[in-house]
Order: sequence, then structure tokens, then C-alpha cells
Amino acid sequence: MKFDQYNFDSSIKQNLEALGFKKPTDIQFKSIPSIMKGEDVLAIAQTGTGKTAAFAIPIIDMIKTQKRRDVAKYTRAVVMVPTHELAMQIERVFKEIGKDTDVWPLAVIGGVDQAPQIEKLKKGVDVVIGTPGRMFDLAAQGHLKLDDIQFLILDEADHMLDLGFYKDIRDMIFKTPRTRQTLFFSATINEKIKDLAYSIVRNPIRIQVSPKNPVNKNITHSLAYIEMDDKRFFLERVVNENTEAKIIVFVRTKVRAERVALAMKRVNIEAETIHSDKEQEERTRVMKDFGEGKLKILIATDVSARGVDIPNVDFVVNYDLPDVAENYVHRIGRTGRGMNKGIAVSFCASSEIEFLKAIETYIGVPISVIELDKEEYKKTIDFSETPENEDWQSLINESEKQLEKAKKKKGQKKNKKRTK
Ligand code: ADP
Ligand code: MG
Repeated sequence: MKFDQYNFDSSIKQNLEALGFKKPTDIQFKSIPSIMKGEDVLAIAQTGTGKTAAFAIPIIDMIKTQKRRDVAKYTRAVVMVPTHELAMQIERVFKEIGKDTDVWPLAVIGGVDQAPQIEKLKKGVDVVIGTPGRMFDLAAQGHLKLDDIQFLILDEADHMLDLGFYKDIRDMIFKTPRTRQTLFFSATINEKIKDLAYSIVRNPIRIQVSPKNPVNKNITHSLAYIEMDDKRFFLERVVNENTEAKIIVFVRTKVRAERVALAMKRVNIEAETIHSDKEQEERTRVMKDFGEGKLKILIATDVSARGVDIPNVDFVVNYDLPDVAENYVHRIGRTGRGMNKGIAVSFCASSEIEFLKAIETYIGVPISVIELDKEEYKKTIDFSETPENEDWQSLINESEKQLEKAKKKKGQKKNKKRTK
């Protein structure tokens, strides 16, 4: 079935066509009718399979239909997400699909000035998208009214619970009317989210696509055994062998992100970092540059592993293996999105074998191994442009300083705001 055969509002159809969406993906095909019928839905589908549009299309359509009869201004839908970047991205999708429909979305994110958000809320916003914390604050201050909410959506639902948003989410749920429709979306699911879904929601319909292997089939993924101190040489090689490629490099900690960026700088590779100690404005700029292709190498912690849809990422490098098994699926899921194919490679040190085992148990299949013979391994290190007399310790010290600087900058901004 194609989108033009659906009974959607004509603007929505035009917008889908302009986006190049001809027919629904599996998860869209299965979820849209249930959502339009008013059912509660727990939808699980692999990364990059179009879950955002699976809820955005029916919600825009239903709000638009309703607004023909009801001209009052109030917020009708709330979308809860784990990160700021994801909130902004979902706002964009709502804007694109909802162009000319008179359905207004707004991302409300923390870390930036609240006043413009409050101003917009006053003028009337139909769909509010944000992290549970900021949303809860706005609701507590009376700027976000939840009494008339008809749709409550939790995207990357399992992760929000992992981040400790459980209480905020429950509080938000209880502040919305019992008659609301609740939708959970994620690529991975755990017991906690199932319990929450089944305890709070009326008979949710569970819709699951490809449950066996959570890794999207558009992604070719493999791993190489590389010792910790040698990883930077191999990253240098991957980058130099793919000079035009857009690459996301995932590391386990913020300080490691800074360290890897500095190591790349030393060999003349331009890379930037994104992690939670950076100011929001800086995070937004880096994501924009990477999205537009001005920046080719992005070094990220798991804050960017979930949901973020960046066009045409060619490679994901797991510089460190994730210590939470399902994050493997989300990290490599930043490539191979929509109709595109992608490649992911993981660097596994001997100290990370436990993580590897947990990941393989989680995805249910072993990850294929790239065999590196001794000579090739040595060559990669010898060919590095790292200066002969490089002092690794100074790099470590410098990266720590870099992180301190970022933290301080963020802290100063916060204080400034408070004293205002
Ligand atoms: P998910 O939330 O499942 O990880 P997204 O909603 O971010 O995936 O969508 C992934 C990509 O697929 C996006 O770039 C989006 O534009 C594209 N996409 C979504 N639906 C369709 C469709 N029906 N046809 C073509 N591309 C689509
Ligand atoms: Mg998503």
C-alpha cells in the first residue's frame, strides 16, 4: 500500500511526497491503523525503520481533523525523549510532515533559556517534545498544561527509564487525563518498560517487527581485536582509508572522547566531540556541522547513540565497546538508516571481552571478526603520523584540561542564568 492510498489530510500526503516517502515502512504500516483507532501501542522495530513518522503521521492527521471542529488553543500531544538532540530532531519531523496543517510542534529542551519556550507555549503549541525533566518543570510552573493531553508518546522508552527518568515519567503520566492515548516506541525493550507499559496503560497493542535480531539488516558490522593503546592508530587508518566518509566514533567516557579528538588532531585529522559536559549551544552546532557534512568525524559518548537521525553516516566505529549491551544496537544503528546501507566496526581490547560476550548474547549471533595478522597490525602502527617522540601522558593531561574547560564554561553559563 502506498501513502497516496491512505485517507490522510492532503497536506500530509504532499509533505510525505516531498520527503520522498512513497510507501510506509513495516512499522508504519502496522502502527498507523492502531493509532488512528485510538489504541495504546507498544511498538518495537529496529533502528532507522521510520518509527518517528509512525507516530507523527497519525497524530498530525488526528489533531488536524480535530482542529477543524475545535479552535481552542491547547497542547494535545506530548512526546517524551531521552536527549535534547532527539527532541529537536522530532520537532523537525513534525514540522516537515505537518507543513501547512496548522499543527504546531515545539521542542522544549533544558540547558537553554526557558523564556522563548514559555512565550511559544503561551501562543499555543499542539505537540510538545522534550526530556521528561524539562517538561515536568514547565508543567510544575504552569506553563505546560497537561489537562487536555490526548496523546502521550514515549520514544526510546526503555532508555528513559535507564536514565532514571522513571519518577518524572510516572508523574507526567499521572498528570495527563486517563482518557489519553499512550504510545511507546523503541528499538529495544526491557522488563521495566514492559511493566510500566502494562501497569499504566489500557491493554496496549504490542507491535513488533523483526524481533529475533535487533540489528538492522542494512548494517554490515564486524569487529577487530585491537589493544587499548593501539586503537588510535587504527582509527587514523580507518579515516585515512576513507577520506570522504562521514564517521561517528563512539567512546565510553567524556574524557576518552576528548582524548581521542586530541590524538586525531596530532595526526592532522579534524574531529569534534559531543557529550553531556558540553554546552547545549555547542552540542547543537557540532550536530549541525556533522549533519551538513562540514564535519566528517564526530566523537561521541552514548548520549548520541539513541534515536539521532543524521543523514548519510557511512561508518560507525565503536572505539570502545559499550558496557551496556543494547547500546551496541543503538550505536551501530546511527548508520544504515531508512533505505541506506551502513558499515560498523568495533575495536575490542582484551580487557573488553566480557562486554563483547554480553553484546553477542544480547543480539543472539556472534559478530564476524576482521582478522589482522601481526604484520598488518604492526604496519598500521608504523604508518601512523604520530610524532616519534610523542608523549602519551601529556595527551592524557591535555584532554582532562579540555574537559574541565568545557565543564567550567557550562557551569558559568548556568550560574549566570540563575543570577539573572
Ligand atoms: P527510527 O526512529 O526507527 O530509528 P527514524 O524515524 O529516525 O527511524 O527514520 C529513519 C530514516 O528513515 C529517516 O531519515 C527518515 O526520513 C526515513 N524514513 C522514514 N519513513 C520513511 C518512508 N516511509 N520511506 C522512506 N524513508 C523513510
Ligand atoms: Mg527513533
